[in-house]
Amino acid sequence: MQEIVFEDRGLHSEEQARTLNYQFCYQCRRCTNGCPLTFAMDIYPDRVIRLLNLGQLDRILHCATIWICSSCKTCTTRCPNQVDIAGVMDYLKEKAIEEGIRPPEMATLVFHESFLKEIEKRGRVFEAGLMQRYMLLSGQLSQKIRDGSIKDDIKMGIKLFLKGRMPLLPESIKGRKEIKHLIRKTQ
Ligand code: SF4
Ligand code: SF4
Repeated sequence: MQEIVFEDRGLHSEEQARTLNYQFCYQCRRCTNGCPLTFAMDIYPDRVIRLLNLGQLDRILHCATIWICSSCKTCTTRCPNQVDIAGVMDYLKEKAIEEGIRPPEMATLVFHESFLKEIEKRGRVFEAGLMQRYMLLSGQLSQKIRDGSIKDDIKMGIKLFLKGRMPLLPESIKGRKEIKHLIRKTQ
């Protein structure tokens, strides 16, 4: 692959472009046909790859699809050309943040950040803490209080607690210093 090609598309490096393999896409649509979240997407996964190959980075950085994608990797495993579609979606999320583009699905970004904060703090997720942070920062808490649906969440929380699935106190892992270091380094 020529350097000029990925530079045109705003990608970081030739190495990254090689790993993602998006240039080998021949538009068979197996990725899109297997994706469980296309119903909520504004641009289908095969189209994202196509637009990337056409150099229309700006369009895909503003779409909701990259934030709807759950990184389940169904598309990546189905692709006959080893295109890492899920990797492309992750890359595009990072790129959108880097460029200061406000995601159409802001709650997804808040969830990602809350999840990472939990891992950074304890080396593992404390579900109650994650949910509190997410609900507060995403504005879901005030909305749920307004429409009364908070009662259902509380009921579900109690059920999970009684079944031992929602501990009230957080637990940490031994190597959390190393995890914190890794997260800081990647950021
Ligand atoms: S499955 Fe692979 S080759 Fe087929 S459209 Fe998707 S990315 Fe392209
Ligand atoms: S990784 Fe994203 S795009 Fe791929 S199948 Fe899963 S949700 Fe769809």
